[in-house]
Amino acid sequence: MAVSLILGIQLVIPIGGADMPVVISLLNSYSGVAAAAAGFALGNLALIVSGALVGAAGLILTNIMTKAMNRSLANVVFGAFGAATSGGPVQVETRTARSVQAEDAAVMLAYARSVIFVPGYGLAVAQAQHQVRELADLLAGKGVRIKYAIHPVAGRMPGHMNVLLAEANVPYDELYDLDEINDDFRNTDVAVVIGANDVTNPAARDQPDSPVYGMPILNVDMAQHVIVLKRSMSPGFAGIDNDLFFKDNTRMLFGDARRSVTALVSEVKGL
Ligand code: NDP
Repeated sequence: MAVSLILGIQLVIPIGGADMPVVISLLNSYSGVAAAAAGFALGNLALIVSGALVGAAGLILTNIMTKAMNRSLANVVFGAFGAATSGGPVQVETRTARSVQAEDAAVMLAYARSVIFVPGYGLAVAQAQHQVRELADLLAGKGVRIKYAIHPVAGRMPGHMNVLLAEANVPYDELYDLDEINDDFRNTDVAVVIGANDVTNPAARDQPDSPVYGMPILNVDMAQHVIVLKRSMSPGFAGIDNDLFFKDNTRMLFGDARRSVTALVSEVKGL
């Protein structure tokens, strides 16, 4: 996917879909710098201070997002310049993803020793955080060790997942940042991906020709079993297929995340 950034009326730069928030944050910081400059011209201290604050905040946020994607700012802004946008060969997906029903997924979860929940943007869309907490409590009651893996750019704003899970009173000590939890996946029985997509795509780690190559991801595919909750095989924000969905250890639980987690809760209660 490519959208165009229009500067003034003459300069048009193609920006990759997943890069747009970074560019918006950068432009936002420029608006602060412009306000501060206007403050100097007008001799207005309030304008100088507020402009400097907006400019600095925008730059800090831009820096955080580019670091989380493991990209330089120049690569984000100019990386798509000159890239072909049409006329390339059409790739047809020939791999098969395996689906699972809630009752079978519930058995996998209830008899696991350890489960890691991986929330993403779909959790926010479905507003499933309270149901996820209920499921986690049920599993913990059966002796399952529960953790949540938080990717820095999961969702649509920094801290999006932390806010949602805090709203459902998920214990803070069960939340783990990417660096803290990535080595745990290989020792985990089941990873449950709830509406996350790009932040779990192994292509970012393994395929140098992928548009998301270099972005740090959660190593979900290394868990013994992976259950992915989403409505379809549609791509996420970056607009690319996710190899995770086609792995042998992955099962897709299709449907709205809140309905799927509610179904899992009632199945686990019945076991
Ligand atoms: P993605 O956007 O990659 O994927 C979200 C997935 O959620 C979709 O594939 C969608 O699949 C699924 N979904 C949507 N609605 C529902 C629902 N009701 N129930 C179940 N699933 C649902 O999200 P990630 O969190 O993995 O990644 C974030 C992306 O956003 C990254 O590319 C990041 O760079 C970008 N970004 C992040 C920002 C941040 O600061 N956090 C800012 C701006 C962009 P389906 O339609 O099949 O259900």
